[in-house]
Amino acid sequence: MSTKTLSPDVERVEALAHTHVMDCYQCGKCSAGCPVADRMDVIPSGLMRMVQIGEVRQAAGTMSVWQCLSCQTCSTRCPKSVHVAEVIDALKQIAFEKKLIHPKLRRVAIFQKTFIDTVRRNGRLNEIELTGFFKLSGFFNDFSIPKLMADGQLAVPMILRNKLHFKPGSPVKDKAVVRRIFEKCFKETKKKTT
Ligand code: SF4
Ligand code: SF4
Repeated sequence: MSTKTLSPDVERVEALAHTHVMDCYQCGKCSAGCPVADRMDVIPSGLMRMVQIGEVRQAAGTMSVWQCLSCQTCSTRCPKSVHVAEVIDALKQIAFEKKLIHPKLRRVAIFQKTFIDTVRRNGRLNEIELTGFFKLSGFFNDFSIPKLMADGQLAVPMILRNKLHFKPGSPVKDKAVVRRIFEKCFKETKKKTT
């Protein structure tokens, strides 16, 4: 389908998600299979409709985009092969860039960003670094002392069960490869912004 008449925001979603949002004919199969649809403020097919009518920024500002588990069930079920999960990923990207993240779910966004940043720096997950950066960034988001202290009581049982690893895991053989993957992704995303 031609994308000539689409708004720049919709074109951006299509470019990031590698899909044609106008192919969606609102059958609702994506929403019917979504394991968290009942918790979402806008169900997946609703997000698709919002994008189709150009309400990209409103869609990016919903709670749903951060409640999505990226399980891909919606994309798999779509009879029109629309990449629904990737559309939601694109909305996340736009929410970050345009500062549209739903206030109630900023901590989810902070966790996801901290996780990715940790992997980018180390080539693999470093649990202590992730916990430290997430706790600090979360605190500077809402200055909540209870949230800062939450989970503290879990530290000792986790240490006793060898579930908290203070030492980073075995080093990644070739960190440069991981770095190149991230650089390529950033370059691609930037290309689709301009
Ligand atoms: S399953 Fe596909 S066609 Fe049906 S509503 Fe969802 S995105 Fe649209
Ligand atoms: S990827 Fe997200 S929206 Fe799609 S089915 Fe899974 S949780 Fe639902």
